[in-house]
Amino acid sequence: MQFIDLAEQQKLIREDVDQRIKKVLDHGQYIMGPEIKELETALAKFAGVRYASACSSGTDALLLALMALDVWPGDEVFTTPFTFIATAEVAALLGLRVNFVDIDYDTFNIDTDKLEEAIKNSITPKAIIAVDLFGLPADYDNIKLIADKYDLKIIEDAAQSFGGTYRGQVAGSFGDIACTSFFPAKPLGCYGDGGMCFTNDPNLSYLIDSIKVHGQGVDKYNNDRIGINGRMDTIQAAILLSKFQIFPEELKKRQEVADKYTDLFSHTWVKTPVIPDGLTSSWAQYSVMFQKHDQREKVREKLSTEGIPSAIYYPKPLHLQKAFDELGYGIGDFPVSEICASKILSLPMHPYLKEEDQKRIVDVVLSIGFS
Ligand SMILES: *Cc1c(COP(=O)(O)O)cnc(C)c1O
Repeated sequence: MQFIDLAEQQKLIREDVDQRIKKVLDHGQYIMGPEIKELETALAKFAGVRYASACSSGTDALLLALMALDVWPGDEVFTTPFTFIATAEVAALLGLRVNFVDIDYDTFNIDTDKLEEAIKNSITPKAIIAVDLFGLPADYDNIKLIADKYDLKIIEDAAQSFGGTYRGQVAGSFGDIACTSFFPAKPLGCYGDGGMCFTNDPNLSYLIDSIKVHGQGVDKYNNDRIGINGRMDTIQAAILLSKFQIFPEELKKRQEVADKYTDLFSHTWVKTPVIPDGLTSSWAQYSVMFQKHDQREKVREKLSTEGIPSAIYYPKPLHLQKAFDELGYGIGDFPVSEICASKILSLPMHPYLKEEDQKRIVDVVLSIGFS
């Protein structure tokens, strides 16, 4: 059994992918070929935003977003410690002060009461990087209220949530700039690294497009600002155009798989994901919570001996990572994140997961028993 079955997906699109790659090899525009614009147009439309800019990874999308905003070393950004390191890493890389804020126990996303408290206690607050963990959009109504009140920018880290929705609005469209990732294991993934920035602001869109090509100005040899090499390869755009054709169908299938898991775990001691009313998840992960750390460890071991892969996102919250020692946080600072890190487990999740496999997974999990 696979944790994410990309081979099963490839069977459906292999011919189309081959043809699209061949087309790129024929036209030879490996950098910024026509597929880039085609992909940007298609995904901007899907997200319901005016501008999209394809880039080299989800991490670079976040970096480009921060570089495009008016932030300076020492400015403070707010995000959760229960996320992939890239979310906070890019801010630290630019010399920004990272202020962690604990998560909500049910959604694993930023706790907006604690967010406001943290902002009140800060000196130079500038931006909120809201993460849509496991595919579920963060609480954007409240985040927007707080950002407006304290005049902060919002970046949406939609690396896991592209395709999820919040009151009818698609993830990848929230905040001043939204960022997603096309890492192969994400809901919409390429065959390498890739990412995208989305915005409705023409000026931010212009800046992102410039910064991702070394701060390019009117032409290649006029550099108006410091930038990076952050472009997406044409071949990855071609692959994404192919995968995007089946993406809406895959989102439906992910939802069915998630519903099946939730149904199979109902009335047991396993806590299943909570999706607030009016929201949908893109189900990048299906993560359950156990009552105790030991239980999680026993389940994980049993699954492994049964040949069932599982994963822990995330075993160590960012405030306890050595890389962030300088921030001065310690154990106990973000208790909800710490509890989740010790009891959470992500189960196999992909559109092609079979019902009989799900039943087997759930049987093995429940065979450990509540003790
Ligand atoms: C995957 C991920 C990223 C980084 O994306 P890459 O394409 O791997 O650079 C950033 N934030 C979150 C929450 C992610 O899951």
